[in-house]
Amino acid sequence: MRLQSVLNPAKSVSFREAVDTGIAEDGGLFMPVALPRLSKGFFDSLPSTEFQEVAFQVSRCLLENEIADADLRQIVDRSMTFPVPVRSLKDGTSVLELFHGPTLAFKDFGARFMAQTMAYLHRNETQERTILVATSGDTGSAVAHGFHDVQGMKVYLLYPSGRVSAIQEMQLTTLTGNVTALEIEGNFDDCQQLVKAAFADMDLSKAKRLTSANSINVARLLPQTFYYFNAYGLRAERNRPVVFSVPSGNLGNLTAGLIAWKMGLPVDRFIAATNVNDVLPRFLGTGVFVPAQSIATISNAMDVGNPSNFERISYLFGGNVNEVRRILSSTSYSDKDTRTMIADCYRENHYVLDPHGAVAALALRHHLNKEKRKVEGIILETAHPAKFLDIYDDSMKGAIEVPERLRATMHGTKRSVRLSASSKDLKSFLMSN
Ligand SMILES: *Cc1c(COP(=O)(O)O)cnc(C)c1O
Repeated sequence: MRLQSVLNPAKSVSFREAVDTGIAEDGGLFMPVALPRLSKGFFDSLPSTEFQEVAFQVSRCLLENEIADADLRQIVDRSMTFPVPVRSLKDGTSVLELFHGPTLAFKDFGARFMAQTMAYLHRNETQERTILVATSGDTGSAVAHGFHDVQGMKVYLLYPSGRVSAIQEMQLTTLTGNVTALEIEGNFDDCQQLVKAAFADMDLSKAKRLTSANSINVARLLPQTFYYFNAYGLRAERNRPVVFSVPSGNLGNLTAGLIAWKMGLPVDRFIAATNVNDVLPRFLGTGVFVPAQSIATISNAMDVGNPSNFERISYLFGGNVNEVRRILSSTSYSDKDTRTMIADCYRENHYVLDPHGAVAALALRHHLNKEKRKVEGIILETAHPAKFLDIYDDSMKGAIEVPERLRATMHGTKRSVRLSASSKDLKSFLMSN
């Protein structure tokens, strides 16, 4: 697979180079130059294929000339280590549960695959690499768990002191071994600034072999295609058109779905469900993309005013908004709507949605009300409700089973190194470790 910057199709790079550099020289995100199509045999056998095997087949189709089969299988087997079930609710609706990974959110798919891919690409190096990540919460813990115990990689997480939730802080600070949490006396922007400054400092960057693992890396994007294929194979109503409703923030999950579709997955429609951070629905309405300041909501992983993967979607459709509209709709919902949806779904199905999945459920319901045909609607449930206990009333809290791994994290020991928000302090800390 060759990849190119979405800003400049003239120059292409290998998968390895795209993973290592993260972003193209011209500042654009990487996308495959061409997307291969999966065979009819692959789709015919999907219903009886295990998730890990689906993941292997899809990644092989994408990376055939880049990573040998045996190595690729090992990357998949080591990263896709948890189940991805589909649950049926009433009214032709299913839930694709993406929260069975170590940090209880779908970011585990991308982070784990990226960690194993990087470890493989650098397997012959003798000197350790250093991953630096600034996090406001969930991304950092997925990356930390993804790289935890991965050989040749040392991870430093920078998080803003006092500005992440109790659960998030425990997920960031209870890992030992090759992961160190740096509690920064500042806000998230300070953390990001420190990471930027560290990468720009050539002495530091060289000495510690700094390596970026941020959310726009292609090695995080590609594995998010796997579960769309898997869900298609597991769907309950085999003869109905399939509609995916994706709770959307930075649009990485949605972009992966669209890539799966371009690789031949027969999807009738994608719905990008957003909270009040509604730049995408506005874009589909007006044809103009206008970034905005982000607004805080209860589905906070979707509080994004300038979604980074928008340029990838635009690239997939040659910048033609009418082409985008043929496959993609988008609607936005308030926190009040979200709470009502959570209560409705619990009453009707005895199923507890998390706030992100609830936004997707709202968007799907809106779509089904207008749709005249019978379709199979699949909601992507991106996080476990136990991560957001504060938003549920007492009657529902009791129905949420807190997974053992979360309980263990909450009872773990917090270990962090407190640092000022000065890049000098960060540098001397890193150099002496
Ligand atoms: C990151 C995240 C999202 C948004 O996904 P994007 O790929 O950024 O659109 C939705 N739900 C949860 C729980 C998340 O962590």
